[in-house]
Amino acid sequence: MESYVTGLRCAGCGHGLPVQYALSCPRCGGLLELEYDLERMAGLPRDRLSGPGIWRYAFALPVRDPAHRVSLGEGNTPLYDCPRLAEAIGVRKLWLKFEGTNPTGTVKDRTSATAVSAAREFGYKAIGVVSTGNAGSSLATYGTRAGLRTFIFCYERGSQPKLNHMAACASDLVFYRGVYDDMIGVFDRLVDEGLVFDGGASRNPFKHEGKKTIAYEVAEQLGWAVPDFFVAPVGVGETFIASYRGFRELAAMGWTAGVPRMVAAQSAVANPIVRAWREGGDLVPQRIGYTVAEGVAVGNPDAKGRYVLDILRREGGLAGDAADADIVAAQKLVARTEGIWAGPTGVVTVAVLRNLVRAGQVPSAARVVCMVTETGLKGEYPPIHPEGIVPDYEAVKKLVMARLGGFPA
Ligand SMILES: *Cc1c(COP(=O)(O)O)cnc(C)c1O
Ligand SMILES: [Zn+2]
Repeated sequence: MESYVTGLRCAGCGHGLPVQYALSCPRCGGLLELEYDLERMAGLPRDRLSGPGIWRYAFALPVRDPAHRVSLGEGNTPLYDCPRLAEAIGVRKLWLKFEGTNPTGTVKDRTSATAVSAAREFGYKAIGVVSTGNAGSSLATYGTRAGLRTFIFCYERGSQPKLNHMAACASDLVFYRGVYDDMIGVFDRLVDEGLVFDGGASRNPFKHEGKKTIAYEVAEQLGWAVPDFFVAPVGVGETFIASYRGFRELAAMGWTAGVPRMVAAQSAVANPIVRAWREGGDLVPQRIGYTVAEGVAVGNPDAKGRYVLDILRREGGLAGDAADADIVAAQKLVARTEGIWAGPTGVVTVAVLRNLVRAGQVPSAARVVCMVTETGLKGEYPPIHPEGIVPDYEAVKKLVMARLGGFPA
């Protein structure tokens, strides 16, 4: 399918540009966004979409030459109807959009697919990113698959499974000390000098765009409808902004009747959006500490953070945070009630939804979709020291019967 991309537009001043690899507005330095021919897209046969991975929605993505599109089967992730979890949290209907089934186990594969494809379209041979683990392993995988050099600047404290993954797939893995916010300024200069294509989350509109497919999938999975609330995690803000943009496009095309109320979910340790939203003020960069939700450990989301706030304020959205203990409890709750093993960052949304329902900010009659952005299989957890039983039939039978409370009826 062809791409219906028409150009770039500045989210700040509205200045328009033809399609090109540009990272900020030449007039005001603002964020650039891709634009499409929504009128023509509205007439596409929405019930006969096809294509590998996120390229099912290639019409709404900015890579024109199909030969440049890389896919490892990302996207098309399940939308699980979760009645037991809904009951435990106290909402009428709850679906989890589970990104753990992506090729590298996280939502990042959507943006790695568009970033790497755009790097090829613009003739780059190397791509890079600063990462706490998920973006790095995803970009290393997609870049290498597309035959590019991959410069992955990784946080020393990343989990071992992620480090192993990156060490195996990246052509160039470089570790840095300190936090993400310290390294990103250095990386952005490498990008500005054209040494590597920007695989980072802060500026590149082509990379950003991959996550828009989340909204297209959710709407399609609900029969071209939207939930009352859509809860997305916010680190830099890409997932939140891109899915919002997707929902906006769908409504503009008339494929859905409206846009859900957007909820921004953060860790209480890294919550600059939530603070600004509560206080009604500007975004204040924060010096953050450790949080179990590594994927959203961002203290200065900068331009995208301000954009998230704009969306929340303009559209009557909500923002909420959750303490690490709430996040770990949500991880267990999701596993126990629905059998879904997600990582801590992945369930920040669930923990925040629980808090917002308790506070009465999300009504119990609501129909809610929570993004669950990662698998639990890539994390590191405190070791479990089991004590085994003796495999004696009578003793084991007694144990099972006692737990079942007698013979099953
Ligand atoms: C990167 C990431 C996010 C969200 O980050 P944004 O930068 O706000 O898009 C959420 N969950 C996981 C697991 C991630 O890796
Ligand atoms: Zn501008």
